[in-house]
Amino acid sequence: MNDDTPNSWEARADASSFYGFTDLPTVNERGSTVLTHGKGPYVFDVHGRQYLDANSGLWNMVAGFDHSGLAQAAKDQFDRFPGYHSLFGRQSDQTVMLSEKLVEVSPFERGKVFYTNSGSEANDTMVKMLWFLHGAEGNTTKRKIITRKNAYHGVTAVAASMTGKPYNSVFGLPLDGFLHLTCPHYWREGRDGETEAEFTQRLAQELEDMIASEGPDTIAGFFAEPVLGAGGVITPPVGYFQAIQAVLKKYGIPMISDEVITGFGRTGSLWGCQAYDFMPDAIISSKNLTAGYFPMGAILLGPALSDRLQDAADAIEEFPHGFTASGHPVGCAIALKSIDIIMNEGLIENVNEMSPRFWDHMNRLAQNPNIGEARGIGLMGALEAVQDKATKTPFAGDLSISEAIANTCTDHGLICRPLGQAIVLCPPFILNNAQMDEMFDKLETSLNKVFAKFA
Ligand SMILES: *Cc1c(COP(=O)(O)O)cnc(C)c1O
Repeated sequence: MNDDTPNSWEARADASSFYGFTDLPTVNERGSTVLTHGKGPYVFDVHGRQYLDANSGLWNMVAGFDHSGLAQAAKDQFDRFPGYHSLFGRQSDQTVMLSEKLVEVSPFERGKVFYTNSGSEANDTMVKMLWFLHGAEGNTTKRKIITRKNAYHGVTAVAASMTGKPYNSVFGLPLDGFLHLTCPHYWREGRDGETEAEFTQRLAQELEDMIASEGPDTIAGFFAEPVLGAGGVITPPVGYFQAIQAVLKKYGIPMISDEVITGFGRTGSLWGCQAYDFMPDAIISSKNLTAGYFPMGAILLGPALSDRLQDAADAIEEFPHGFTASGHPVGCAIALKSIDIIMNEGLIENVNEMSPRFWDHMNRLAQNPNIGEARGIGLMGALEAVQDKATKTPFAGDLSISEAIANTCTDHGLICRPLGQAIVLCPPFILNNAQMDEMFDKLETSLNKVFAKFA
């Protein structure tokens, strides 16, 4: 459908790009999409076609694609001081202000911040921090990391090992010592007759059994997304984090909340751990941190971990880790503005105002005989396609049902993401009523077309 003449943007993209996380048969069949600009929640391609981006880019463009305040903050900082690191005892004033702000808005009463360029690097760094910490405290065997199947923590070798997706086997990953618990998805993983509370208890018991069989003195830490994002917007079963955290506390295992998606308002609360009422030992932030206007990740260390890590670093006079662009002044200036916009210019309020309408639409579409489950929280949701609703039987894999739905949506000017057999929606926080209705109208039309063909 896109222009495939030799000099088209699409042909040039195909010839010059080695695509990541891209379904290559779909690109071969349909061509790639080359975008030029955005406006509010919309993006535009080289042919001037307009798409409502129901995925906020990749969860992150929460203030939309043309926020003048964010662009201005970047321009001002580029003029003032366009780049610096935060190592060797030097950092920009913007970096100091952002660290103070992050501690202030975090759920922690005090703490410290460390910067990276991405969410993957932040998780990778957090694992190194735990290894460093336990080693310094004489617990050199505490090396193993526990996460969940279907979790997404990124793509560097360590973050990919934490990620619980089967595709990582093509890299010979996970590395040794990365352990994955059952995905906390009640609808799919709950057993016949098992209540949600019993499911939670079973998962907490599984964690305790894993700790016992691996040896409590071999576990470095536990990482979890409050809501699994790239796993398909999976919200935890009732009481999950309370039950899991009781086990972790019993064995003194640090708990890290990966809030790369849930941080800064996506659930309607500022932090996902607040939405689910638990207090982690550290928080991983990225994506929304800069509203997608700059690549940046941050680790927010709570009081206990920041004290213990500081002691460990003091003992050898250094924490020997850091990135060239850690705490980049332009990224920090943008993040400060982004936090201000989210908290003080009504973005998080809009998430809470728009959520009821979002869930009315989601629950309406869930009545479709080929939608097995509508799940999520705030402005993040997924609709799970099923061949048979009663038995929860998925469509045959070779139908690539969610790709078919997403491609049909694209034809109608709506970008949404297929994940497994689910369709994910996570629109920008600036969405208004008319845009919300447009999003669901286009999705419903596409669902009906595809189900009429395959179901
Ligand atoms: C996107 C994501 C990451 C990885 O962030 P990158 O910036 O892509 O490296 C890590 N954790 C979660 C929960 C994410 O959604």
